[in-house]
This record gives sequence, structure tokens and C-alpha cells, in this order.
Amino acid sequence: MNLLDFGSYFPDEGSCIEHFKAQREQLGLCCKKCNNTTHYWKKDKLAFQCKKCGYRTALRSGTVLENSHLSYLHWYKAILMLSATKKTFSAYEVQRQLRHDNYEPIWKMLHKIREAMGKRDCRYKLTEFIEIDEGFFETIDTENQKDSVVKRGRGSQKQAKVLVLIESKPIEEKTEKYKHKPDRLVGHVKMIIMNDLRADSINKEIEAVVDKDTIVLSDAYKGYNKLEAIIKQHDSINTSELKEVHKVLPWVHSAIGNAKKILQGIHHSNGKDYLQNYLDEFCYKYNRRNFGEKIFDRLLLACIEYS
Ligand SMILES: [Zn+2]
Repeated sequence: MNLLDFGSYFPDEGSCIEHFKAQREQLGLCCKKCNNTTHYWKKDKLAFQCKKCGYRTALRSGTVLENSHLSYLHWYKAILMLSATKKTFSAYEVQRQLRHDNYEPIWKMLHKIREAMGKRDCRYKLTEFIEIDEGFFETIDTENQKDSVVKRGRGSQKQAKVLVLIESKPIEEKTEKYKHKPDRLVGHVKMIIMNDLRADSINKEIEAVVDKDTIVLSDAYKGYNKLEAIIKQHDSINTSELKEVHKVLPWVHSAIGNAKKILQGIHHSNGKDYLQNYLDEFCYKYNRRNFGEKIFDRLLLACIEYS
């Protein structure tokens, strides 16, 4: 799906509804009352009716569209916008593109889509070789805005602490074409907002999202001191005297840099409460960077699977 095809596939509300219904049927539908999986389609009600007990499931029910009054066409266009580029769109921009009168439902819709992205990626654990590091993302914390003393670096009041993990496999032999690229091949990424960066907190998060059989590479920060207990191997590099840190931890640094650039450019006021959603959007798209135009279909399925 690209911007030009979209208009011919989805010229109106009816075409979106037809498509949405077909996708739900393909994923399979289970009756909430009796667990039966066969249904009649009630076109006039936009609902599936259980063949066994007659219970009706609205077409939107159990999906991210549940409780939204926006049209299917609005949702489809928003999913297209969020999947069409590595970057993202602010709610204002989407509102303008959709020519919608109200900001709030658009803003909510975008966060629902981002939440579905996050939930989809929770299904996977990172494996084999991983680089980890922490990033500090600017947030607007309305309660602390008036504070004149703001500490810098780790522990700053206006920065969210984000643990970043990225699969990064050493390349044994580089081809000529790959000569100037990093010595490691990049895979999937995860970004997690942390309340603190103590070793126990870091271990708890890493245990949940990383395969036990993994080799982790990090700098010498003390918060990583206990990693050996939960993974196969931990290699720490003292980066304080290195000039070219990006060469030893290339992918985690570039992912943090890219995410910051995208977030700063678009969402000038990242509220602390929603930062995780923006990070999830970044990771979702990063992890599907080779999907091409298929990403629209995948994201739509995620929006159906998670409410
Ligand atoms: Zn039933």
C-alpha cells in the first residue's frame, strides 16, 4: 500500500468496512459468550452474529476502533500515514490532513495505533547478540516546569530514562560493499522507559524482553553489573577513554540518535506519559524497515488484534 494506491483501494467508507470485515474473518472470530467460531454477517448492524448462541459482536468490538466515533476511512488514513514513513506525524498534522474539526479524537486515535504497535512488538524477545545503552529523552513534565534547578545527565528531572536494546550480530567477514559500515549487523530494537537505572531494575526489564541465551554488550555503567546473572554472557567496554564510541556500540547509539531526532522534530512537547507510545512507534517501524509497503497491512492487523 502506498499513498497513490490507497485512493483506488479505499475510495470510501464502504470499501474500508468491507476490507476490515474480511481481515477480521481471516484472523478468526471467537464468540465471547460461547467460544464458537462460526458467525453470520449482519450487514445492517455491522456486526457478526454467533451461529450457535446468537450473540452479536460489533465489527469494531475488540479492536482499536472500539469506542471510537471516527469513521473507518479516518482510521485507515491514519494507519496509512503512520506506516508510510520512518518518521511520524503530529496529531495536528493528521487532523489537518483528515480535515477533522476536533483535535482530541484524532490524538486518541493515533495513541491507540501506537499502543497496538507496542503490544505487537511485545510478542518478541531479542536474541543472540545485543547492544544496550541508556538514552535520555526530553519530556515536558508539567509539575516540574517551574523548577529552576534541573540536574544534568542521569537523574535529570526533565529527561526520561530510556533503556535501549538492539540486536547486533558481529560480522565475521566483511564484503567490499560493506567495507565502511559497522562491524555488526543490526536486528530488532526495544526501548523501555525506566523509573530508575539501578542494576536490579535493569535486570528485571532485560529478563522480560531478552532471550536467556544472549550475549550482551554495554558500556561500563554500574547499572549493568548484574547482567551476568540472567544472560549467557556480558561484555562491558570502558568507553570513557574511547574517541569513537559509535564504533564499539554502533547500533544502539544510532537508534537513540534517530529516535531523538524524530521525536524532537515532530512532537515538540512530548508528555512524559505518552513517550512510551512514541518510542513504540519508532521501534515498530524500525523493526519492519524491510517490509516496504506491506507495513500498512501488518499494522492494520495489529489494530484488529489488540484493543
Ligand atoms: Zn456464541
